[in-house]
Amino acid sequence: VVALGVPEHSKVTTCAYCGVGCSFKAEMRGEELVRMVPWKDGKANHGHSCVKGRFAYGYANHRERITSPMIRNSTSEPWREVSWEEAIAHTASEFKRIQAKYGRNSVGGITSSRCTNEETFLVQKLIRAGFGNNNVDTCARVCHSPTGYGLKTTLGTSAGTQDFDSVEEADVILVIGANPTDGHPVFASRMKKRLREGAQLIVVDPRRIDLVKTPHVEAAHHLPLRPGTNVAVLTAMAHVIVTEGLVDESYVRERCDLEAFQAWAEFVSDASRSPEASEPMTRVPAEELRAAARLYATGGRAAIYYGLGVTEHSQGSTTVMAIANLAMATGNIGKRGAGVNPLRGQNNVQGACDMGSFPHELSGYRHVSDDTARALFETMWGVELDDEPGMRIPNMLDAAVAGEFKGIYIQGEDILQSDPNTRHVTAGLAAMECVVVQDLFLNETAVHAHVFLPGSTFLEKDGTFTNAERRIQRVRRVMKPKNGYADWEITQLLANALGFPMNYGHPSEIMAEIAALTPTFAGVSYERLETETLQWPVTDKAPLGTPLMHLEGFVRGKGLFVVTEYVPTDEKVGPRFPLLLTTGRILSQYNVGAQTRRTDNTMWHEEDLLEIHPHDAEERGIREGAFVKVASRAGDTTLRALITDRVAPGVVYTTFHHPLTQANVVTTDYSDWATNCPEYKVTAVQVSPSNGP
Ligand code: SF4
Repeated sequence: VVALGVPEHSKVTTCAYCGVGCSFKAEMRGEELVRMVPWKDGKANHGHSCVKGRFAYGYANHRERITSPMIRNSTSEPWREVSWEEAIAHTASEFKRIQAKYGRNSVGGITSSRCTNEETFLVQKLIRAGFGNNNVDTCARVCHSPTGYGLKTTLGTSAGTQDFDSVEEADVILVIGANPTDGHPVFASRMKKRLREGAQLIVVDPRRIDLVKTPHVEAAHHLPLRPGTNVAVLTAMAHVIVTEGLVDESYVRERCDLEAFQAWAEFVSDASRSPEASEPMTRVPAEELRAAARLYATGGRAAIYYGLGVTEHSQGSTTVMAIANLAMATGNIGKRGAGVNPLRGQNNVQGACDMGSFPHELSGYRHVSDDTARALFETMWGVELDDEPGMRIPNMLDAAVAGEFKGIYIQGEDILQSDPNTRHVTAGLAAMECVVVQDLFLNETAVHAHVFLPGSTFLEKDGTFTNAERRIQRVRRVMKPKNGYADWEITQLLANALGFPMNYGHPSEIMAEIAALTPTFAGVSYERLETETLQWPVTDKAPLGTPLMHLEGFVRGKGLFVVTEYVPTDEKVGPRFPLLLTTGRILSQYNVGAQTRRTDNTMWHEEDLLEIHPHDAEERGIREGAFVKVASRAGDTTLRALITDRVAPGVVYTTFHHPLTQANVVTTDYSDWATNCPEYKVTAVQVSPSNGP
């Protein structure tokens, strides 16, 4: 509920929803948040905001918030409220017991992209140094892990190449697999402003998203591809660019690995990869695709923005590399107004990845087998670190089902709702002896937990978030933690109880350690962040930070073209499951809705709907607003139908904000070949009339 009253004091902080990272003044009356006012000097938002950051903060005081630690011996027992001392001692003794019985690798943890950089850094430190293994992962596993792989391989670093401001200098904007007006609304407004000024827009999306045609903005080209064919479409665009002589040859000669370029150019030139040859697979009219490719290559400075419609596929990493190939071939990286930019979903998913939340990488994306990097950490932490990558989330669940993985510490992540194949996640969690959930609410994952540690909101802690343009911004505590502790303090208590000492008095001390251990954060400090924001890398060479990356050369040296063979997903439509389901977000809600559903924003969204084309609805006798059953090979769920030609015939679409929707009951086990990112965006389904859930 939005509290009203006259504010007495305020602090500037950062929105805890999406990767745009809008700055707000949190206006307070005592311990009560009166309102969130978009901050005019915010570097990412310049005084603008959306309905999530502006209004959806009531969850901080919601009656369902858990504020006392709870434990139970088995998940069939009721929860028992205990003191923090008992909860921490019990948790530590359980993890010690499990490791003594089943071995060092039998436990692990998951960091949170909703928490601060300092908090995610501490969780991975606890796991690497306290547990003694690399079994740490994060929600980026299910969203942008292919970005990490694809951009690091081709360009040398796992992050977007541009700052938001430079969209104002783009001549061509290509949006693929993203719906910025709903997912990243404040940045979408800046994009639309630029489009109104005359920049041209290409949209590659199976659905006619708002951006395709909205007041005063109309896409020059919308390529409504069949879900799952991103790589074929991008390769066909590359075919046009190479065969029609549109490559920026001097850029490629100067900045890229020429041998790799030759191999790629030969590959894409093959007639089998032309727009005409691809059309039967992609369903994108060849002439439209050719025109889009020409515009991208010749229309001036071209910026690509992409989202989960690129990454959450069995070829997610390949698609990211295909995007980087296009940008390098046309000289569209390393100058203002041009670049390759993942629109990060969660407020701090960029930061969680930067902070070493992956099982194979220390902070700053250095591989755990890198002896020099590891030695730095070993000296500072006073322990020997494992040089073998640990388990990813799906591997932990597999190992749990196999009886080899028994305990997990999950900070701010509801894997039962957000990860694919709910049945498998349930089986994995149920097979563990100690599941520790640290969160604001008793989420779905907590059904299988033995320990619940109440977490804190962004209003209750100091720290930093890093947004999608690599901008590190302060989060400031405006109220006391209702549970007694900020999340970083809970991790610290647990580490100490496990026998690995941590003695931080404030997150600024954690940031000092991050800066000492992470070259890209070398110049970051709370002193500086008090008055400015910083875009990493912040180094001796770039003391003011780096708004645009790869200016004089690529981070990896020469840009690497990668041959991107299109491999159709194993998820096939057929007589039983003839439609393709894809998913997305709505403006007022956020992800699985744990926060936004506990605010007044529910007035804009009560339930998730299934969008279905009029032709497919008529064929099945489905009426507008009627319940339908959506069934896949993995499971089924029930939704109401919304009949619309925003989706093409053969494609259906839903959002995943309401727990009853359970979209992940129907999604499959298929995942990206390189990173295990689940293939959420392509599921073969049948839709039929239903009497309701
Ligand atoms: Fe928050 Fe994103 Fe909305 Fe900005 S655009 S207010 S960061 S949810």
